[in-house]
Amino acid sequence: MQEQSDIITRDDIKKNNRVRIYKALRENGHMTSQDISRMLDLSVPTVNKNLAALEEDGLLHTPGVRGNTGGRSSRVFEIDPLQRVAIAVSITSRHISGVAVDLSGRLICQVRYRQAYTRDDAYFRKLGRIVRELIVTGQIPDASVLGVGIVLPALLTKDGTRTYYNGVLRDEPVMECAEFARYIPFPARFFHDTTSAAYAESSINHDISDFFYMMLSDSVGAAVVLNNTPYVGMNNRSGEFAHIKLVQDGRPCYCGGKGCLEAYCSTRVLNTITDGDLTQFFMLLEEGDPQATELWNDYVHHLAYGINTVRMLFDCSVVVGGYLGQYAEKYLPQIRREVRKLDPFSQDTDFLSFCKYKNEAAATGAALTYIDEFIQSI
Ligand SMILES: [Zn+2]
Repeated sequence: MQEQSDIITRDDIKKNNRVRIYKALRENGHMTSQDISRMLDLSVPTVNKNLAALEEDGLLHTPGVRGNTGGRSSRVFEIDPLQRVAIAVSITSRHISGVAVDLSGRLICQVRYRQAYTRDDAYFRKLGRIVRELIVTGQIPDASVLGVGIVLPALLTKDGTRTYYNGVLRDEPVMECAEFARYIPFPARFFHDTTSAAYAESSINHDISDFFYMMLSDSVGAAVVLNNTPYVGMNNRSGEFAHIKLVQDGRPCYCGGKGCLEAYCSTRVLNTITDGDLTQFFMLLEEGDPQATELWNDYVHHLAYGINTVRMLFDCSVVVGGYLGQYAEKYLPQIRREVRKLDPFSQDTDFLSFCKYKNEAAATGAALTYIDEFIQSI
């Protein structure tokens, strides 16, 4: 017998048509009802009915007509991207960044501050001020804000209301979202940084739909994406690649273990010689500085072992993101050479690429989640 949830009702089909029509306009820009009818194989009256409803909800513009040269003319429709906006603030141990994203997925504005993480009222006020700054800069009406994502390098409950592990921020395991959102007058929830960054990547990287995303920054994170959807695991912590044991009894890790990949592949390993400045590290590397070169070669050696482990487990594409994804693309051939040495089955390393979404991927991915949830609900 069919489960209740599997039965597709007439209402489901109607709703699905509305979402498909909105998405067609979102992806293709200006379209007439005839264009949409042809593209989605829907009748023109069905398309017109849905367009009228979307227009009534204020979600569409009608910038003009097409074909008015003696023949039949048709109104042209496009989405009004500013009808709703999503905001996200991303917290790391040393920075806070914020973004606002509209319904088209466009970044309206962004900010970034060097600000050490402290769990106190002044810090939470700062988060509130950053949200307000984005709203003012982006000229966003409060009523348009769908929600505010608070992005953390922490392990979270699936509903995004609290954390249950905070090793990177060196804080207590359980923290409530309500505490962080004290000065944010909008619905808010926590998002996992790497899962959000992988979500942003899948929104623009149409070459791959199943991939393992590595965020190599001051801390290491990873996310598994299957069919363009993050696979989060039983406890919302799939892809905890940072704590695979790379070296027996190796370097200490913040998790309390030894020899974790985190201790070898965090970019802190590199920028330790440049006072935390990764740009300067890569300048030294470029100049052939012996210390930078030795650190980098050791880093790549260990990273290749991590990548090989993932490849052996999943046989999938691997995308390198985070600070390394922004700074080190020219070293991809070297990383591929090291990976090739470890693969017993193939010399093909095309599976390994650098991220396409390089700018504030974690914050943007959280905002895009709100946007996509809204579009599914229209
Ligand atoms: Zn560890």
